[in-house]
Amino acid sequence: MTLTVSSSPSPFVSGVDPITATDDEIRAALADAEIPPLLPSLAYLTGDLSLLRDDLRPDPLMLAMPQGGLTDEQQAAVREIALQTLIAYRDGGCQPAPPPSDADLQRILEHTIGGEAMGPYLPLLEEELAYRGEDRRAPDWTKAEIAPDVDFSVVIIGAGMSGVLAGHRLNQAGVDYVVLDKNPDVGGTWHESVYPGCRVDNPNHNYSYSFAQRHDWPFHYSTQDVLHDYFRTCADQFGVRPHIRFESAVQSATWNEETSTWTVRYRTAAGAEESITANAVISAVGQLNRPSWPAIDGISTFQGPYFHSAEWRHDVDLIGKKVVVIGTGCSSLQFSPEVAKVAGHVSILQRTPGWIAPTPEYHDAVPAGQKWLYAHVPTYSELNRFFIFWKMGDGALASVTVDPEWQGDGSSISEISEFAKQMILEYYNEQFGDRPDLLEKVVPHYPVGAKRGIRDNGIWATTLKRPNVDLITDAIGAIDATGVLMANGSHIDADVIIYGTGYQASNFLTPMKVIGRDGVDLHEEWAGDARAYLGVTIPGFPNLFCLYGPNTNIVINGSIIYFSECGVRYILGLLKLVLANGAKALEVKRDVHDEFNEIVDAKNKQMAWGWSDVNSWYKNKHGRVAQNWPFTLLEYWDRTRQPDAADYELVR
Ligand SMILES: Cc1cc2nc3c(=O)[nH]c(=O)nc-3n(C[C@H](O)[C@H](O)[C@H](O)COP(=O)(O)OP(=O)(O)OC[C@H]3O[C@@H](n4cnc5c(N)ncnc54)[C@H](O)[C@@H]3O)c2cc1C
Repeated sequence: MTLTVSSSPSPFVSGVDPITATDDEIRAALADAEIPPLLPSLAYLTGDLSLLRDDLRPDPLMLAMPQGGLTDEQQAAVREIALQTLIAYRDGGCQPAPPPSDADLQRILEHTIGGEAMGPYLPLLEEELAYRGEDRRAPDWTKAEIAPDVDFSVVIIGAGMSGVLAGHRLNQAGVDYVVLDKNPDVGGTWHESVYPGCRVDNPNHNYSYSFAQRHDWPFHYSTQDVLHDYFRTCADQFGVRPHIRFESAVQSATWNEETSTWTVRYRTAAGAEESITANAVISAVGQLNRPSWPAIDGISTFQGPYFHSAEWRHDVDLIGKKVVVIGTGCSSLQFSPEVAKVAGHVSILQRTPGWIAPTPEYHDAVPAGQKWLYAHVPTYSELNRFFIFWKMGDGALASVTVDPEWQGDGSSISEISEFAKQMILEYYNEQFGDRPDLLEKVVPHYPVGAKRGIRDNGIWATTLKRPNVDLITDAIGAIDATGVLMANGSHIDADVIIYGTGYQASNFLTPMKVIGRDGVDLHEEWAGDARAYLGVTIPGFPNLFCLYGPNTNIVINGSIIYFSECGVRYILGLLKLVLANGAKALEVKRDVHDEFNEIVDAKNKQMAWGWSDVNSWYKNKHGRVAQNWPFTLLEYWDRTRQPDAADYELVR
């Protein structure tokens, strides 16, 4: 395998510029560097693997710490080596060495993360890093080549990150399609989530399409408007937008056995009922766009304005008001600090605290020097993508896996889990040590990883310590006309109530009605317990394919984009199977689907989120983890790389 230095397929990258900076300018840029990917990119650039000094390797247990846990001395040594190497590269006319051998590339990757035995990851990374000019997840076929005379079309439901991606791949394969979305624009989550403070919590160098990487993200964790702009640009650049019918809310999809087609009915903004018939349906409806309202009595009796964070009311003036916030999950920790800046008083009602992931750079712009390095050092940006991919993905999996021998008090599940907890507790002590009353309320008593971690750069403690903010952990009794009646009989007066209570994540594909073979209703079949094979296919529902479907979510902050890229490739592989075999459709075998779900369930029980009985949106009403993928990212890639025809029945 080679990573070549050619031009990028990404519309956001115009290439890497030659270095003309002075020594001092290079030194200044290096002061801003993300250190762990630096020596690896220089080894790649120069072919000099002696740069990968053992004493400058990160400790894999410390990767989540700033600068991968490298000490100040180690960072200084790396910067000095980098300075001399970049000066020599500049003075030599900026000539990169030939691409390294596979063995050398493996060493480069292993050094980046302080790991070993990365061989099996090389083919995955070749795609995921998509080094300039490579889009290796593009379909290797076109309909014109394999079934030129067959009429075949696809309906994609949803124009968020997944739907835009599916449209792009169908464009590449030359398959006709229409995208239906209830919204007036693309972006899904990133179109809808307009609450103050909304931003991604997976760094953008990882949270972006592999074939549309950006080296010039303005923030490490960009704000909603930046993400929205990114997906809008992708929809335009990849020619997806002309295929989209906006403000078209799908009501139902029904399989017609005689014609082997799907009829998709939808309602337009004008209220008209329309339908479209296609050979296949790709559901790209997401998991996190239907607000979840808590089961509290009297919500609608409140006389003032109230709303859910997913449907933020910008027309409601919060200045000087008494605001009650219900919930302390990821969204609340983003918007509550913004609300507290303007409100007269904020009462934040917490049921269960989340574990905080200390992230000092959470709100920071990417510094100029780091941007300069991305623009001038070939592979630095891609190896940074890999660094994030690993430390927030497979590299963190061990810390959330149950050790059955571990004797703990329920707040850790293994030695590594205990180690991670202790590291984070140090942060809690730093942040809340001067307020033991708050410290007691904010520290969770379940293992790290049992609920989604919440990023924080210190703003949570600052917010909770404000004189106009209370954190209340007593149980809620009911909502009444003037505020919240607590179970203990006290009352919290409110002018405005904001619900930061998450999404109906377990209600996959709702509120659509989906009728498959033999008239079976998908939601009756699932009965609140959604399952699919690889998150994509469902027995009894031919040519229905899901993206971000059951068990394709991740807890420890991998990127959903990765899952959708794997899922779309798999779907394109299935369409190829249909078309190349002269079939009309295909359907996953029930035993294949059932066996797969058994191993997923068994593994989820060994993970922090399945083992712990803490409440979380990862479990459905049956208590089963229907959201999460419990295995490595490598495993999902491997299983979805290309379909196994033996898993499917062809419909002719
Ligand atoms: C606040 C927030 C922060 C997040 N941060 C991260 C993060 O840091 N990292 C990460 O990996 N993920 C994150 N996520 C998850 C995020 O949802 C996914 O990363 C990604 O955006 C999912 O894209 P999608 O296209 O699958 O779904 P969505 O973005 O939800 O898009 C689904 C689309 O389907 C449309 N749709 C749904 N039902 C219908 C219907 N019946 N008819 C017509 N159209 C319909 C919707 O209008 C929407 O446009 C976050 C989610 C939220 C809400």
